[in-house]
Amino acid sequence: MIKPDIKSMTQPQLAEIFTEMGEQPFRARQVFSWLHKKRVGSFNEMSSLPLALRDKCNEKFTLNPIKTKKRLVSDIDSTVKYLYGLYDGCTVESAVMHYRHGTSVCISTQAGCKMGCAFCASDTGGFARDLTAGEMLDEVYTAQKDLETQTPANRVSGVVLMGIGEPLDNFENTLRFLELISSPGGFNLSARRISLSTCGLADKIDGLADYKLGITLSVSLHAPNDEIRNQLMPINNKWPIDALLSSCKRYFDKTGRRVSYEYALIDNVNDRPEHAAQLAAKLKGTKSHVNLIRLNDVPGKPYRAPGQSNAAGFAKILTEKGITTTVRRRLGSDINAACGQLRQEEVPSH
Ligand code: SAH
Repeated sequence: MIKPDIKSMTQPQLAEIFTEMGEQPFRARQVFSWLHKKRVGSFNEMSSLPLALRDKCNEKFTLNPIKTKKRLVSDIDSTVKYLYGLYDGCTVESAVMHYRHGTSVCISTQAGCKMGCAFCASDTGGFARDLTAGEMLDEVYTAQKDLETQTPANRVSGVVLMGIGEPLDNFENTLRFLELISSPGGFNLSARRISLSTCGLADKIDGLADYKLGITLSVSLHAPNDEIRNQLMPINNKWPIDALLSSCKRYFDKTGRRVSYEYALIDNVNDRPEHAAQLAAKLKGTKSHVNLIRLNDVPGKPYRAPGQSNAAGFAKILTEKGITTTVRRRLGSDINAACGQLRQEEVPSH
């Protein structure tokens, strides 16, 4: 029998199992707090539990903490990049980024990716498996522990689901992660401080809207028309831009949360003035926000970043046409901080 992964369980689920085990319900609260507030790595460290109960937990549950295989710090902007090993040998990446307004952790949701975006390094070595909610939490908890060792008052103030993998392709585990990370008995991170990035699974965006979470939805658009997007992102063949934007509109109508659109400028592919005009026309009238980034060059991929002035020119056209636009800084460029790049060094591509 496969033992349940205790870090992925909600407090009510724990309470049910503890009751079945003949334990008092307050034990579930204690264990939940050890896992998600004090964030210990083993049952043996749960010193307020009787030894017999710690043994019982060891028999009944699995607790597979992720292990840091590499930790790199950027000399330029102090971004920290982690390469993590999972219990079964899979690897994923995370990054901790420091901004004026706080510290964000960017986490992976899958080991590998099925989406096959032409400019992205995340699918190197193919798709291995979904991450559990507990593994996603561990990415945040490990970063938090690391921050605390530098200054005890340091705190992760935001989480972005923008690492390796497509969060909406791992829907149930991602939802559970969102529930647990914002749980008052645990890490207690406000939904407002969480962003989920998707390549555009329109049906899943509709599904997510029903939960009315306060998180920010970030959609990787990267193209102003289907012709370009089909070349860059295979998902566009299934959910073309208009279908995707319809889902985003419904998302806003249901949640009241403005959708963000990611647009990575790629030299001579999607960075011309006419592309900016087309994009503005597509987004006109929607409650949106465009985040421009310059492409991170990925070895082995044929796409390159445009010159710096292009981003400013592109942003100017969008802004003039009434679209709220920001140009995002590139962080951690000296430590391969773009998605999948660190892992790429470890996993041979096929
Ligand atoms: N699967 C999700 C989240 C992971 S990717 C998604 O597609 O949104 C996080 C973001 O990085 C996405 O916007 C993705 O398109 C972008 N990205 C991937 N490779 C990139 C690269 N080489 N340069 C710039 N952005 C990239």
